[in-house]
This record gives sequence, structure tokens and C-alpha cells, in this order.
Amino acid sequence: MKTKQFDKILIANRGEIACRVIRTAAKRGISTVAVYSDADRDALHVRMADEAIYIGGSPSRESYLQFERVLHAAHSTGAQAIHPGYGFLSENAAFCRACEQAGIVFIGPPIAAIEAMGSKSAAKQIMEKAGVPLVPGYHGDDQDDAVLKQSADDMGYPVLLKAVAGGGGKGMRQVWSSDEFDEALAAARREAKSSFDDDDMLVEKYLTQPRHVEIQVFCDSHGNAVYLFERDCSVQRRHQKVIEEAPAPGMSAQLRQKMGEAAIRAAQAIQYEGAGTVEFLLDSDGSFYFMEMNTRLQVEHPVTEMITGEDLVDWQLRVAAGETLPKTQDELSMSGHAFEARIYAEDPDNDFLPVTGRLAFLSVPPQSKYVRVDTGVVQGDDVSVYYDPMIAKLVCWDESRDKALQRLIAALKQYRIAGMKTNVAFLTNLASSEPFREAELDTGFIEKHHQLIFRQQQINACKVLSLAALFLSLSAQQQMELSRRKSTDANSPWFNSQRWRHLGAAKLAHQISFNGVEYGVDIANQGNGCFAIGVLDAVVKATGWLEEDCLHACLDGHVFDVAVAQYNGEVTLFLEEGEARFQRVFADLGNNNESARGNGLRAPMNGTMVSLLVDEGARVNAGDSLLVMEAMKMEHTIRAPSDGTVKQFYFKAGELVDGGAELLDFEPGG
Ligand code: ADP
Repeated sequence: MKTKQFDKILIANRGEIACRVIRTAAKRGISTVAVYSDADRDALHVRMADEAIYIGGSPSRESYLQFERVLHAAHSTGAQAIHPGYGFLSENAAFCRACEQAGIVFIGPPIAAIEAMGSKSAAKQIMEKAGVPLVPGYHGDDQDDAVLKQSADDMGYPVLLKAVAGGGGKGMRQVWSSDEFDEALAAARREAKSSFDDDDMLVEKYLTQPRHVEIQVFCDSHGNAVYLFERDCSVQRRHQKVIEEAPAPGMSAQLRQKMGEAAIRAAQAIQYEGAGTVEFLLDSDGSFYFMEMNTRLQVEHPVTEMITGEDLVDWQLRVAAGETLPKTQDELSMSGHAFEARIYAEDPDNDFLPVTGRLAFLSVPPQSKYVRVDTGVVQGDDVSVYYDPMIAKLVCWDESRDKALQRLIAALKQYRIAGMKTNVAFLTNLASSEPFREAELDTGFIEKHHQLIFRQQQINACKVLSLAALFLSLSAQQQMELSRRKSTDANSPWFNSQRWRHLGAAKLAHQISFNGVEYGVDIANQGNGCFAIGVLDAVVKATGWLEEDCLHACLDGHVFDVAVAQYNGEVTLFLEEGEARFQRVFADLGNNNESARGNGLRAPMNGTMVSLLVDEGARVNAGDSLLVMEAMKMEHTIRAPSDGTVKQFYFKAGELVDGGAELLDFEPGG
């Protein structure tokens, strides 16, 4: 067997996946070359790689998608192969061809396999021939709007529109009736055009309660193929996965084998090589339908690694070098259960829209054989508008689903981020919910259990305010101590942290804002490190000390530790029951009249104005679509809050809009 072992590879990606690939390459003694954009000059993947080459501006089309520059970087550093990660160039047949022409190995499948699966419609035609079951639908070449609509009308609603070139849930719309079809089609086409530069659509019967179960396959260039079991990725928002697990709960050995074999048939139908994932929808009666095949490593591959003990990147490197698969089907086995939770910079309460900002505070759970954190960021990094807002993947394993879930919940509680909104509390609620524990999974899980998952955390205000007062007093003492050490007159009463008075104990009054309400809290220093805190008609006896990011507190005899982060005037307390944020309020000397804001509607995120859907002066009804904004390639429609008149739009199509900016002048009234 002739193999060509690599001693240097380039990773044409960024973030956690670039770091992930670098780790395995280093283990194998392969040196690594990273590429980076302006925004990523100081990124972790650049620091982890042995070398790094600058490839252009921050937007990915100016850097990570510039394949000539990526190839040039490989050439100039002598890299023999390129690992594309996922996203960016990973499923780009033209890039693959350019690698071939340049004599560089593309660590992925052959060009023809990428091309065959690149179009969801063409893929379905191939799978139909290979005897792989499909969801009923229209996947023809005639893209006339009327033809698509007719096919939906014939099929019966609900239907799902999907971008033929789609991925990541983009360019996808559910349509519940014929009346909604035109607007949904236009929106899906726009989103597809901007994401994939291709607005061809297919129409599928929309299954109302399926599970998303996918099979990990691997094939080598010697005709061997295996499946590494399944992952259940049913828990999704905006058709994007948030928590994945392996194995799929309740899966029988027979069904696993049947789906595994169908996945191998799918891979063999296109002479596949390398890592691939065949995605199926699994109906409650056990029937399953091919959805698509992803011709790359998936984001959620770690759960498969955790239950099989295999390193899939290592397998990729071996297969690309021409080796046979490290194991046969009979040699593969599963052990225990694994979950992956995707931690995003996003606002679950605002339709999961991505947010940006600085990771002002970041503390992750300790890693072990049970807990793995795949990330590409460290404290102080920015989550920018340019790339996917995923901060990390938290992966937990244990011998059973129950035990693994318990580890996941505990690790989520230890995942502490301040500086931007994240989905950590949402994930914790989701993972702790009874239906999730019972594995009542289907792709509508989040919508169905909305009330359970989006419940407000019940955090005791008295506890938060007491901790806030204690924290403020201890920080002030610490500050004073520092100043005293620097001062020449260290014994001055001005530096007495007991707040020297000549009558009685010192008492300080703080105004603290918590959950949108302002509270007055008194704190009296009683000496010997003891405080009496007057809060909400109670008096709490407190002691404590500060150590780096930790407040060691004792409130009325209850001793506990709280991680604390301060950012932009806001303090976050990471309590066992959830995060509590408070601000110290100072007397308002200026004229901060918040109510004088007018009748505008505000931008829910930083983004671009895509289109204005009505004319200025138009009379509209409550719920009518007024305009479409886009952020990170996701569209968001702003609708009329009531009947009224659109007097003026403040932005034109194509303009950049800051989150919170007023978008239009809207006059309510019938
Ligand atoms: P993408 O490539 O954009 O990720 P997929 O085809 O993989 O799109 O589908 C993403 C998700 O959308 C699936 O996991 C599933 O939840 C949902 N979905 C896709 N097709 C259907 C369908 N026909 N009926 C119901 N849900 C579907």
C-alpha cells in the first residue's frame, strides 16, 4: 500500500475547529500552518499553530474564502495538505479542484462526491436511485415560482422550502398554507442568494414531529466503508442544532444497523472517501428518510469520538494519506453516552439573534475524561460580526445518559461568561427540563417546551442585594488598602477601611439596580470583618473576602463561593441558581430622559437593511411585515406592532444598522 504521510498541513479555517485539527496534527507529529484575517490576528488558532499566514480582511469573503490566497499560503510554507474544517471552503468543489491542480492534498472527499452532494436536489436524485428512502417532495430543475407553488399545493401543507445549495438552516422556510407561500418563497430565496449566491429552491413535505438522526460514515480509497453509529440532533432552534447526543435515545440495535447500512449505501453511491455524515429524519413509526449528506467533519463530531474512543481527525489524516481505515465495522463499538451543547453569543429572548461583544470574563469548567471543551477563544477576545457566533462546544460523557446529563448540567453551571449575552442559561434550563431528561425528543422540542425552557430564573433578590453590598464594600476596602500601600502617610484616617467615624459604626447606603428595579441597601461595618446589611426590611449578617474573581461569602451563617465578573459598570454574580447582574446606581445629575424616544421601532441587532416592504405613508395592519434586516446571513422581519401608519424609514436598503437604532417613524392608530 502506497501512502504519502504528511509532515506539514495547513488548516483553512479558524476558531474551535482550527484548534481541534491542530491538536490532533500535533499529536501525530505533523506541523501546522494557520491562516488568519485582520480580525483574527491574535486568535487562539494562530497562536496554537506552528506558523501562521495572513490572508486578508476580516469579512470571510476577503480572507477565509479567498482560495487563491489559501493555496498560496500552503505553497509558501511547504504544506502538503489542507484541512478545510467545516463551513468556509470545506464543501467547495472548485477549491478542491484548485488543490488538485496545485498538487496539494485536500483532506476530504473526492471532487465528484462534493459536487454530487452540493446540490440538495441532485443528491436526492442519486439517493433515490441507490434505494435510500426520501421525504416526498419536488426537487426539479424548473424553478418558476408558480411551478414551486403548484407542487406545494399538490403535496398539501405544511411544506418546507429549502435552498438547493443550503446549509446551516439558511434559506429555509416552513409554509403552513397556500396564502403564505409567496412571501416565504421570496424571503427564502433572498436568504439563499445572500448566503450561497444561488436561490434555487426545493419543496418538501414538512414532517411535523420527526427526529434528526444522522449517521457518521467513513470510507477509504481502498473500498472500505464503516459507520460510527448515530447522533441525535433533534434539539434545534432556527433549524440549527444546539444540543446533540450519541447514541440516539431509544434506538434499537436493528434500526441502528438498518440506518447505518443505508448511510453506507448513500456514501458508496458517490464513491465517497473520508469523513461524511448522512442526515436522516426519523419518524415516530421508525421510518427514516434521507435529508442530505455533509461531505466534511461535522461540528458535533466530538460526541461520536466520546462514545467510540476514536479520533476522527486522526482518521481523516490517515485516509487522506492513502491508508486503510483504522478499524473494521466489527472492531467498532460504543460505550456510554455523550452530549454536546453549543455555547453561542446570542440572545435566546430575542429570537436567538446573534450578539457581538468582548468576552470580558470567561471561566470554563475543569476538563477531564468526562468533560471536554472545544473552543477557539480566550478571555478578552471579541465575538465579532464577521464569523459564526459560537463560543465553544461543551462535551460531556459518562456511562449512562442520566449520568452524562448530570455532568452536562453541572458543567453548564460552571461555564461563566460576562460581557455579552449567551445561551448558557437557556441551555441549562433546557438540559434540566423533565422532557429532555425523559428524552422526549423531536425537532419541535424547543417550541413545544417553550414555557419550561424560557422560564425566568427565580433568584432571591435579598440574597443578590446582600451579596452586591458585601461585594461593593469589600472592593472598596481592597481599593483603599492598595492606595494605603502606595501612600506615604499610611496611618492617615482617610485610608482606614473601617471608615473611621468618631461616633458609632460606619454605615454606607448603596442604590443597586437588579432585574430592572432599583433598591436601597445599607451596609454597616461592625468591625472584625463583620457587616450588617439592611435590605428589603431584613438585616443580614455578613462576612466575606475577595480573592481574584471569587467572593467567599457568609450570609447569616450560610457559607458559599460566588464567581464575580465586572464589566462596563455591571457586576455579574455566578450563583448556583443562575447568573445575577447588578449595577450600582449613582445620583442622576444629567437629563437622561429615556421616555422621549418617539414611536420608532428599533433594530434588534447590528446588521444590514435588506428591504423596505411598504411605502412611506402606507397604512398597515398589526403584524404586517414592514422591513427585513439581516445579520450574520440570517434574515429578521420587523412587523407592525399595531394598526398604524409608516411615516418615515430612517435607513435605505443596503445600509448598515446598529443594534438598538430606531428604524422608522411609526404612528399607531386605526
Ligand atoms: P441544512 O442543510 O440547512 O442544515 P437540513 O436539510 O439538514 O438543512 O435540515 C435542517 C433541519 O431542518 C433538520 O434537522 C430538521 O429539523 C428540519 N427539517 C429538514 N427537512 C425537514 C422536513 N421535510 N420536515 C420537517 N423538518 C425538516
